[in-house]
Amino acid sequence: MTMPNRHYGELKDSYLFYNIAQKVNAYRAAHPDAQICRLGIGDVSLPLCGAVIRALHAAVDDQAKAETFHGYMPECGAPFFREAVQGHYARRGVKLEADEIFVSSGASDELGDILDLFSADNTALVIEPAYPAYVDANILAGHKVLHLPSGAENGFVPAPSMEHRADILYICSPNNPTGAVFSRDKLRAWVDFANKTGAVILFDAAYEAFIEEDGVPHSIFEIPGARGCAIEICSLSKTAGFTGTRCGYTVIPKELACGGMNLNAMWVRNRTTKTNGVSYILQRGAAAVFTEEGQRQIMENIRVYKKNAACLMETLDRLGIWYCGGKNAPYIWLRCPGGMGSWEFFDLLLEKAQIIGTPGAGFGSCGEGYFRFSTFGSPAETAEAARRLEKLLAKE
Ligand code: PLP
Repeated sequence: MTMPNRHYGELKDSYLFYNIAQKVNAYRAAHPDAQICRLGIGDVSLPLCGAVIRALHAAVDDQAKAETFHGYMPECGAPFFREAVQGHYARRGVKLEADEIFVSSGASDELGDILDLFSADNTALVIEPAYPAYVDANILAGHKVLHLPSGAENGFVPAPSMEHRADILYICSPNNPTGAVFSRDKLRAWVDFANKTGAVILFDAAYEAFIEEDGVPHSIFEIPGARGCAIEICSLSKTAGFTGTRCGYTVIPKELACGGMNLNAMWVRNRTTKTNGVSYILQRGAAAVFTEEGQRQIMENIRVYKKNAACLMETLDRLGIWYCGGKNAPYIWLRCPGGMGSWEFFDLLLEKAQIIGTPGAGFGSCGEGYFRFSTFGSPAETAEAARRLEKLLAKE
């Protein structure tokens, strides 16, 4: 008899986005003319930049001619793509070999697939509040999951301790949902901890392009010792507007090993077994992100989101509401005013100001009492939301 993966039965239903959609649909049905401001979305609103679009068009034309046509691509990434990423790291002072960089269809795919490298008896540590996919992917892999709550007292950047000993450690910096970043010292503490305890860190760098503070690491490989204990998972989704286009990359150093097995070599074996790579057209478009023109253009888009963040942060400052994030990340994480619960605050914003945000409780139990605003909306919608927020909460 066929046996299913019984771990599917252990997944908790994710009510977060389902509940939000239900509440918003009910509100819309009752108020069809309401102008709703969406600060809940984790998707970008600006289109791909010109350099990427040109490279995509040129790659489509290549596929029309026998001389430039490409069939199957190398499973781990086209040399031109791997070298483009390698050059990007080198300009930041991180030396990687091109075959330590693996192309991917985005970070979500990788966060699930990468667990193929580890046996089912591993324990994963997830620092919460966290991107919900970490927990679910580990449950499906049969791993035990430990939750490490963080809070305002440690700036949502907890330090490791022997109580948090686990085999796979998740670090997301800049963090979704809190927007908090690991400083060099804080990250070094986790790298040292992983090396001391024989753990592997899965470092999610999906939002690194939003870091503006000098000295905050964009890559875990800026930290001495990280090559012996870390895998870095990157995405062009938020960096360059690839949420619907799909491309990312993963870095696995050649010396990274566990239980006597080399993880880079295992990942090559995994990719050559499980994928036929990412399309030529997409890799051409993605490689254009790392050109000088591409970098300039993606930073212009990121600046638009940062202006949205500034507008919301100024409003929260005037209202005297505690928050973190916004500076090095496209998310602002605020404490719900008046001690409200996060769903209570969600309802208040929707009913009284027609603003949608994301309740913190959806990112782990320590997120209760907090709320996430995304800065990926249009400037006009964000400014309108800020105006309504001020009007609502100033008179409360
Ligand atoms: N990691 C984090 C922390 C995210 O917030 C997201 C998307 O929101 C992802 C990974 C997934 O990104 P991708 O679009 O590359 O799958």
